[in-house]
Amino acid sequence: MKLEKIVCPHCQQRFTYYEVTNIVEHTRQLQPIECPYCRFIASKKIYNGYFVSQKLEDSDKKIKLKG
Ligand SMILES: [Zn+2]
Repeated sequence: MKLEKIVCPHCQQRFTYYEVTNIVEHTRQLQPIECPYCRFIASKKIYNGYFVSQKLEDSDKKIKLKG
């Protein structure tokens, strides 16, 4: 799993997002990357899956739990 960091252009807070690809027959289309703080669509990318965004502290906790 690849985590990317991005700054929301609306609230200026940093968050991470990762790509979810294990979807059967999902078509390539423009997928939104939504800010977890203010729900602003911070970015969009053409992708054959979807993006899950996380607040920075939340994602850090999850990474530690997974080892
Ligand atoms: Zn935001």
